[in-house]
Amino acid sequence: MRKAVYPGSFDPVTMGHLDIIRRAASMCEILYVAVLDNPSKHPLFTTEERVDLIRKSTGDISNLQIETFRGLLIDYAESRDAKLIVRGLRAVSDYEYELQMALANKALCPGIETIFLVANTTYSFLSSSLVKELAMHACALNDLVPEPVANALREKMMRR
Ligand code: ADP
Repeated sequence: MRKAVYPGSFDPVTMGHLDIIRRAASMCEILYVAVLDNPSKHPLFTTEERVDLIRKSTGDISNLQIETFRGLLIDYAESRDAKLIVRGLRAVSDYEYELQMALANKALCPGIETIFLVANTTYSFLSSSLVKELAMHACALNDLVPEPVANALREKMMRR
């Protein structure tokens, strides 16, 4: 059974992430969307909130498992018996970091391959940081994030 892991911070999930999730899910039997639990990155949303927002935004995709992980990605992938790691590539600026991570993971665990899906041109400018910046300035987030994320961002910003 082909299992893949799509790891990330997803703080919060955007339409760009969802595009990768849909495309990756169509290529494997189970796609683990793995939310990194890393408090040292000071995420805006808690790990549970990030999982919940992905869940609310992907109800129509049946072969997803949305989970959290800590520590090394390859340890998590091995624990799920997944041999593929999926990452998205937006621009050349993503490439250097992604290449380093893919090579490091390959060195640590030769049996696991990283595959890259090129971002949809509609979303190639889109990042969680941009979305948070726009939300902070009360800009409309239409088409950049799913409805549950837009609502959650509005609530967060009102509480600040
Ligand atoms: P990380 O902190 O691991 O980079 P992110 O949530 O920022 O977590 O990104 C997770 C993955 O999704 C990365 O591979 C990133 O390149 C990809 N990604 C982020 N935004 C987009 C987008 N708009 N289109 C395609 N891929 C994206």
